Amino acid sequence: MEEFQRIILVHYHEIGLKGRNRSVFEKRLQKNLEALLGAYPIVTIHRISGRILVFLREGTSLEAANACTDAILGIPGVARVSCGFKCEQDMEAMGRAACIALAEAEPFASFKVAARRNHTTFPIDSMQMNRDVGAVLCEAFPAKKVQMKGQDITVGVEVVEGSTYVYARSERGIGGLPVGSSGTVVSLLSSGIDSPVALWRMARRGAVCVGVHFSGRPQTSDASEFLVDDIARVLERTGCIGRVYVVPFGDYQREISVSAPPALRVILYRRLMFRVAEEIARRERAGALVTGESLGQVASQTLDNIRATDASVAMPVLRPLIGSDKLEIIDQAQALGTFEISSMDAPDCCTLFMPRNPETHAKLEDVEAAEAAFPLEAWVTELADAAEPRDYRCPAYRPPKKRPA
Ligand code: ATP
Ligand code: MG
Repeated sequence: MEEFQRIILVHYHEIGLKGRNRSVFEKRLQKNLEALLGAYPIVTIHRISGRILVFLREGTSLEAANACTDAILGIPGVARVSCGFKCEQDMEAMGRAACIALAEAEPFASFKVAARRNHTTFPIDSMQMNRDVGAVLCEAFPAKKVQMKGQDITVGVEVVEGSTYVYARSERGIGGLPVGSSGTVVSLLSSGIDSPVALWRMARRGAVCVGVHFSGRPQTSDASEFLVDDIARVLERTGCIGRVYVVPFGDYQREISVSAPPALRVILYRRLMFRVAEEIARRERAGALVTGESLGQVASQTLDNIRATDASVAMPVLRPLIGSDKLEIIDQAQALGTFEISSMDAPDCCTLFMPRNPETHAKLEDVEAAEAAFPLEAWVTELADAAEPRDYRCPAYRPPKKRPA
């Protein structure tokens, strides 16, 4: 049995800067952590002096503590995670805890001690704590070098409210703001590489995300819907997606493809998608739409076409990847864990009824003239009503009330 209780210290810089909103952010992050870490051996989660403290059950193994730490690292709002022990406000106990923590941080070559005390009621100041704990560690790890700059490991010793927290493993988290602190967005989610990354970027800025996927069903199979579900399950781990609406879009695309000028089809599909997404956003009380577009990446992602699609909706359309390179987006999709799923091929509405030469510089007048042939308002309501919701675990998400039939 371990002498000390294992703890994980969660640091959150950016929230600390937010002045008056601070306690709202802290509470949001605490709630998100509580809801998302249900599978780990946790006793309680407390807020304490600018940090969130996760207390692990007695007898928790290093492996289990590390797995929990890894899960916390990916949760929006977490700037840094440190993993160690709780001990008494007693120099000897601190030294012993520091030895165990440092041994668990192998492999490393150099270290230093960084102590801080939150209450001057503790008689030993931080400089003296550094020296005393440092001396104990030097004796226990004679082969390791003490280094004040560029050290491999920093042993943290924090004296806070009656206890001490000692840790060695410490890693940067994903950063950003806790999901639920920046409102709700509706994110257009294909099964491609870009849109899950776009959604994730908004979630990292604190937005609760609701996905909308346009399926080619019944003109295509529902294969893309399964990929989108797999993607949502990956995103779900960090609590950023509350729901995905699947819209069976194939018949409507067919209608457009039969009578609209071929070059304008893609723009017309996209304008209809935006309108349906906007209607869903209204029902979800969301404040913006999000897409994974990146300037110039494909023929449809030109400034003219962006203008022509944006003109179909009143809501702001956010494009967090607009200035990103494909390789950067791929790196992020890999880190996020969606890349492999997105690399699988599935026909969705994008592959359906594609013209040979899509317009790259659509003129709004031409687009609007071509659109006049369709009963758009009725279509938008039909499609939004036909959208099939699927829910995911997101502590900050509140589904809209059921609409009267
Ligand atoms: P992605 O990798 O996200 O599919 P892409 O590079 O393939 O993007 P497009 O197919 O032009 O580019 O799509 C641009 C954006 O439009 C997507 O990022 C997504 O936000 C939205 N979108 C495209 N197809 C769909 C779909 N079937 N359902 C929902 N949104 C879509
Ligand atoms: Mg795509």
